[in-house]
Amino acid sequence: MALFKKKKNYIRINPNRAINDKTVMPPEVPDELFAKCPNCKQVIYLKDLGVEKVCPYCSYNFRLGAWERLSLVVDEKSFEEWNNDLKTVDPLNFPEYQEKLSLMKERTGLDEAVLTGKAALNGTPIAIGIMDSNFIMGSMGTIVGEKLTCLFEEATSQKLPVILFTASGGARMQEGILSLMQMAKVSAAVRKHSEAGLLYITVLTDPTTGGVTASFAMEGDIILAEPQTLVGFAGRRVIEQTMKTDLPENFQKAEFLLEHGFVDAIIPRPEMKQRLSTIIKLHVGEGWSKA
Ligand SMILES: [Zn+2]
Repeated sequence: MALFKKKKNYIRINPNRAINDKTVMPPEVPDELFAKCPNCKQVIYLKDLGVEKVCPYCSYNFRLGAWERLSLVVDEKSFEEWNNDLKTVDPLNFPEYQEKLSLMKERTGLDEAVLTGKAALNGTPIAIGIMDSNFIMGSMGTIVGEKLTCLFEEATSQKLPVILFTASGGARMQEGILSLMQMAKVSAAVRKHSEAGLLYITVLTDPTTGGVTASFAMEGDIILAEPQTLVGFAGRRVIEQTMKTDLPENFQKAEFLLEHGFVDAIIPRPEMKQRLSTIIKLHVGEGWSKA
């Protein structure tokens, strides 16, 4: 009966590959349908990750782009971007740096590795900075430092609390010593913001390392982190080789830092907006008046 005839061509065949009688072609699965969790190694159907991109098996928080994260944290249509007209310079004429910058701008929709501005969080005005690890690994160049300095200076002048999501591989090697100077520059602006009695919250996201950890990422009045975030200065292997010792399995993970007092709380991504809002409202006074 024709009804029960085995259907032919039910497997999609790649027309570019040669086929002979002995070759059994595997079904083609587009890469963009699935993602592999870097923490538990499970393969996940992308739709199951949801907009928050949290692994359904181990709750690992996948890395987010700055715009994606912004949409999860602040009130809709409340964001006003600051200093997006600053142009990255190439002070060392570093080979292929300009090409790399152009590629990154195209891929991420960002001008630099940090997005800064003013927004509302459940109705409360805040200054916000979001670093993006997709842009040259969130590395800290002169414009990243300049945008963050301006963020703190403007927040001080407008008397706003600052929330900064950090994500970085460290200093940007293409800008040499100029990138290292940003650590001190941003830290000075953080200090002035703090002296004005204003709140600074850092949220460490995966990965926060190098000079960023060694400066403004660890200068928050309250330091939060996403689950399983890698946080460190030097790499694990470098430390093991230098110290000639074995390090614990979860060394440089947010959970290890929480245990040792470097982090105040680990907040799962779906709860982040509400928890930040509670802290901010307590600080600006709305929380007390309602209590
Ligand atoms: Zn997982």
